[in-house]
Amino acid sequence: MTVHNYDPALIAVQVDNDEKAFADLRQRHFKARAKMSLENEQLRGSFLGATDFLQAKRRAVFPDTDELEQLRDRGEAIRQQSLAQLPDLLETLEKNLTANGIQVHWAETAEQACAQVHSILAMNNARTVVKGKSMVSEEIELNHYLEKQGIECLESDMGEYLVQLAKEMPSHIIMPAIHKTTAQIARLMHTRAERSDGQSVSYTEDVDELIGNARAILRDKFASADAGISGVNMAIANTGTLCLVENEGNGRMSTTAPPIHIAITGIEKVVADLADVPDLLSLLTRSATGQNISTYFNMISSPRRGGELDGPEQVHLVLVDNGRSRMFNHPQLKPTLQCIRCGACMNHCPVYARIGGHAYGSTYPGPIGQVVTPQMQGLDKQGELVSACTLNGACGDACPVRIPLPKLIRELRHEANSTAPASELDIPGKGSQRHLGEALIWKGWALAHQYGPLYRSITWVLTRGRKLLPHHLGAWTATRTLPVPAKYSLHDLARGAGIGEQPANRRLNEGEA
Ligand code: SF4
Repeated sequence: MTVHNYDPALIAVQVDNDEKAFADLRQRHFKARAKMSLENEQLRGSFLGATDFLQAKRRAVFPDTDELEQLRDRGEAIRQQSLAQLPDLLETLEKNLTANGIQVHWAETAEQACAQVHSILAMNNARTVVKGKSMVSEEIELNHYLEKQGIECLESDMGEYLVQLAKEMPSHIIMPAIHKTTAQIARLMHTRAERSDGQSVSYTEDVDELIGNARAILRDKFASADAGISGVNMAIANTGTLCLVENEGNGRMSTTAPPIHIAITGIEKVVADLADVPDLLSLLTRSATGQNISTYFNMISSPRRGGELDGPEQVHLVLVDNGRSRMFNHPQLKPTLQCIRCGACMNHCPVYARIGGHAYGSTYPGPIGQVVTPQMQGLDKQGELVSACTLNGACGDACPVRIPLPKLIRELRHEANSTAPASELDIPGKGSQRHLGEALIWKGWALAHQYGPLYRSITWVLTRGRKLLPHHLGAWTATRTLPVPAKYSLHDLARGAGIGEQPANRRLNEGEA
């Protein structure tokens, strides 16, 4: 069904306005971004609806709690064992990939990773690229880099394609365009998608037609692209195999149709053996989209071999560090690297559900983004993110590989306010979120709770002078009412009721009992 009830004069303006709104949001600080997102009712509705839907789907595929917990135990163990042997596994992976004919490249920083990809493309005179979904390529801003070098880089995952057309960034790691309504997508496709004959696509709000239009455009690109770029969900060290999980078939097309395939991934994605894959795959697809299995599961073990009819002539793997070694060496923050990028933590986070992905201003939003981004970009640049958490624990409960996300967020808050001497394990920007006034208040709070007479004096003053206390305390009272202390403290009431201090020997005997 094609819908024609739209205003052609307005439609381009609306798409441009959406783009300007996103550009405006990006320039602001985290708190301003969160406030703008909270004031956007359509956005809040989209995120609340989507996260409720995804939570329900996840619940439906994990009907047996015991089975879920056993699977989580195994997933956690696999990820922890993989990290425990990470340096050895990476060496084994490189050896076996090389033996299979896959060329391995190492990149310490985001810039090096972009340069490695560009150099492979330049050596092969590749000017056009189709991309499967890859969060690491978003993390290193690969599209932007390649465009500056004059290389056309087209996203082929439907969500990523829409986000690219809109000149935005993903708002969810599994569903990048989760923030867009069908009407917004229809306008975007009509004004910005271009068919191979140069014509624009017809306006429609029919989802099947929209997907059909994108498919027709992308099919031509797969056939003509000089290279394909993809992510990697798991790299198997003992066999030299790259695994790719996807639902749209675009991953398979990007990795098989063009003559060159460049896979790009973080160094933490390696596992030892094929036997590690089924549990992680089951946890990933069930936690991410509520599917028992994804539509496609690709295993890439070599370039095209003699006698084979299809497949790329060259396969490359770029292994990206970009701060992961520092996470690996940090005893408290190392579990960050267990992540399998399923997105369940953001689907269960009440803060993410209300402010949406763009408010975080980073490739990885939600709880895992709050943990990963400050470690990659520094607490001085992204330290505010760790405050966007109520510590309700829902993310940790949902995480399929049991990453203790609330604990990691607390650790990062500690690092952000730390005055400890510098060490080589430090996250960049350590101590940058410390404010003297706030630090003094907490110091006073701690002292008051350590010394009984001081505590009693303060409560005496607060209860007796309660009517004189200020009603407005800046941001603390912007959205909540300051509680007024009771007329008498609990100690006063206990004493008034004749309940006195217990003798020391009685307390001791009760403690022993
Ligand atoms: S932290 Fe856990 S829940 Fe969040 S994306 Fe990673 S694996 Fe999934």
